[in-house]
Amino acid sequence: MTAELIDGKRIAKEVLEGVRAETARLPSAPGLAVIIVGDDPASHVYVRTKERTAKGVGFHTEKIELPADCGEARVLEEVAKLNARDDIDGILVQLPLPPGINTLRVMAAVDPAKDVDGLHALNAGMLSQGSGDLIPCTPMGCLLLIKSVIPDLTGMHAVVIGASNIVGKPMAALLLGENATVTQCHIHTRDIRFVCRGADIVVSAVGKPGLVKGDWIKPRAVVIDVGTTRVPDGKGGYTLKGDVEFDEAVKVAGAITPVPGGVGPMTIACLMENTLAAYMARRERAAAAA
Ligand code: NAD
Repeated sequence: MTAELIDGKRIAKEVLEGVRAETARLPSAPGLAVIIVGDDPASHVYVRTKERTAKGVGFHTEKIELPADCGEARVLEEVAKLNARDDIDGILVQLPLPPGINTLRVMAAVDPAKDVDGLHALNAGMLSQGSGDLIPCTPMGCLLLIKSVIPDLTGMHAVVIGASNIVGKPMAALLLGENATVTQCHIHTRDIRFVCRGADIVVSAVGKPGLVKGDWIKPRAVVIDVGTTRVPDGKGGYTLKGDVEFDEAVKVAGAITPVPGGVGPMTIACLMENTLAAYMARRERAAAAA
C-alpha cells in the first residue's frame, strides 16, 4: 500500500487563484512589504519567491534590504515607517534575523493589523483563544493540506513535533480549534516514536532530516512534513530534505506531503491570503470609523 501524495503545489495554486480573482475586483492593490536583514542566501530565495507570487496575484510589493550589522533600532525604524503607510497592508520581517536583533521585539513593533505572518503576541493570543484573522502562514497551510484529506478532524489524535512560535505552537492551536486531541512534542519529549505511533495525524516541524522513521507512523495516518533542511547534493548545490524518512513512511501512511512540493508552496499562498485579509479588514475598519 502506498500513501496518497498530498500535492501542496496544486492546492497552493487553487488558493492563489482565489486570491487573484478577489484582488482583481478591488479598487486598489493590497500592499505587501518585506524587510530582509543580512545576506542569508536561503532567506533571499524565499523573499524573491514571495515578491514574485505577490506580483502574480496583483499586489503591490516592496522590499527593504538592510545589512546584517544595521542594528535593531534601524529595523524598528523601518517597521514604524511601514506601519504608518496607508498603502501597505502587510509587513513581513523575514526570519531568522541576524544575532543581536531581538525577534520578539521586532515582531511586537509590527502593527498587529498588518502582521501577515501572524507572529505578533496579540495575533498569537487570539489564535490560542480560537479567534483572529491573521494566523501564521505555515501552520495555516498545513491545516489546509490536512483538511484536503480529512475534512473533519473531530476526535482525531494529532501529534505535532516541534514547538516553535512560528510553526509548532500555532499548529497545535489550530488543530485544537478543529476539535482534534493534540499532543505537542519537542526536543525534551521522551519516546516520541511511541507518541507518534498513536497519531492519526503527524505534523513534523523540526529541521532534522530523517528524524521521523517509517515505524513511527500508524498505518493510514496523515503525515505533514514541514521540515526543510538544505543538504549538499555532492555536485556543489543542495537539495531540500524533510524531517520524515519519506521512502519508509510512504509505505505506511494514508497520505503524506513530499519535500519539496508539500508545505512550502502553501506557506507562500497563505501569506497572500493573509495580506488580502489584512487589506479587507483595514478598509472595513476605516469605513466603519468614517
Ligand atoms: P525551530 O528550530 O524554531 O524549532 C524546532 C523545534 O523542534 C523546537 O521546538 C525543538 O524543541 C524541536 N526539536 C528539535 N530537535 C528535536 C528532536 N530531536 N525531537 C523532537 N523535537 C525536536 O524551527 P522552526 O522555525 O519551527 O522550523 C522547523 C522546520 O520547519 C525547519 O526545517 C524549517 O526550515 C522548516 N520550516 C518550513 C517552512 C515551510 O514553509 N516549508 C516554514 C517554516 C519552517
